[in-house]
Amino acid sequence: MPRKKQTKTLDLCNKPVSGWEILKDRLADIESYNREYLAFLSRVKTEREAVVYFREAAKGRKDLVLVENRGKVVACCRKGRLPLGEGVRLVVAHIDSPRLDLKANPLYEDVDFAMLKTHYYGGIKKYQWLARPLAIHGVVARQDGKLVEVAVGEDEGDPCFTIEDLLPHLAQNAQYSKKLSDAFQGEKLNIIIGSRPDFEFKENKVKERVLRMLHDKYGIVEQDFVSADLEIVPAGPAREVGIDRSLVGGYGQDDRVCSWAAFAAARDARNLPRTAISLLVDKEEIGSEGNTGAQSKFIEEVLWELGARFKEEVVPSRVLYRSKAISGDANGALDPDYPEVHEKNNAAKMGYGVCITKFTGARGKVGSSEASAEYMAFVRSILNRRGVPWQTGELGKVDEGGGGTVAKFLAAYGMDIVDMGPALLSMHSPFELSSKVDTFSTYLAYRAFMEEE
Ligand SMILES: [Zn+2]
Repeated sequence: MPRKKQTKTLDLCNKPVSGWEILKDRLADIESYNREYLAFLSRVKTEREAVVYFREAAKGRKDLVLVENRGKVVACCRKGRLPLGEGVRLVVAHIDSPRLDLKANPLYEDVDFAMLKTHYYGGIKKYQWLARPLAIHGVVARQDGKLVEVAVGEDEGDPCFTIEDLLPHLAQNAQYSKKLSDAFQGEKLNIIIGSRPDFEFKENKVKERVLRMLHDKYGIVEQDFVSADLEIVPAGPAREVGIDRSLVGGYGQDDRVCSWAAFAAARDARNLPRTAISLLVDKEEIGSEGNTGAQSKFIEEVLWELGARFKEEVVPSRVLYRSKAISGDANGALDPDYPEVHEKNNAAKMGYGVCITKFTGARGKVGSSEASAEYMAFVRSILNRRGVPWQTGELGKVDEGGGGTVAKFLAAYGMDIVDMGPALLSMHSPFELSSKVDTFSTYLAYRAFMEEE
């Protein structure tokens, strides 16, 4: 065969193609998927709220089996044709996000303000949390065994909360002349919760009035803060961004963008060869520790449970060794204002589909479970076969920084696993940005992974 002809049929060069170009005939599907995603993102601000949302969304679907762990982790499972012993298709994503948690003894009064002390959770840039409306979400476990749910700051009639910031006129020594890391201190991230005194009280007139109000509304007393999971999060709904409405802006897209895609894929998938499990975990942002993090052995419990329900004998370690997995997590997109932190040939671009990351880690891939060449080929062949927009992306330049995901904790079972999720801008900020075509591509990718042999 003449050489010229041969090169015509081969894609010799790996040229990135915009997801908007590839999916130009599916604009209506992109919109309807993102409408559902925006509603989820607007309502769900904590891991517990995510579990409740998925529980409600799965109602009436007998084929969608949900296995929960402590109200903070959920596995959404669909039975496949093959027995569990042949391995499962697993998508793991996390439903916790960076935020401010209340300390055990948070409430105090200072210069006639009632304030709440916080301890931040996960990687935040502290200045982004100042001078903006905040909401409180979470639960208080009372001594009598009652769990009181709290969500204040989201509804139109609700008050919100805030952390004040110093006026520019007086910020010279306290902020401007300092290094960014010194200018904003965790101990100053205190929430204003009230300012009106009640003169019936002798001292702490503002704080005591706040306590009285909390008691009237929730039946709680100050000591109840000790047994509470209360999270301070940005108030308000997620929004469409851009005059062309091509982007989604909102809090917690890392990693609810993958969590929603994983749930929707498990919900919508058809003709599954293997059992599909979307495992949505907590505590990723602080190292996947604890009994609700990816390092817990909950996935084994899920398999025992499925074995019992499907009436199959299972040995979880063997099932997991024979399984294939995706670690669904957000990546950092090529930043138009800070291109210098990226290496542009290997940075994910927003609008170019789901991003596959062969390895994560920092300073020489440390902390990464790298996906093998064979597994990368397996995954990209599925995406190419199904016409799913995808790209690869590495988080920043070599030696620029880095990060990890849950992948290595699942890889410890011997399964194949690779990181795959959309690239975001303003990641870990109160208003993260995603591209609508990337969120939809992520869903298509997870679904294809579940449905294909
Ligand atoms: Zn994440």
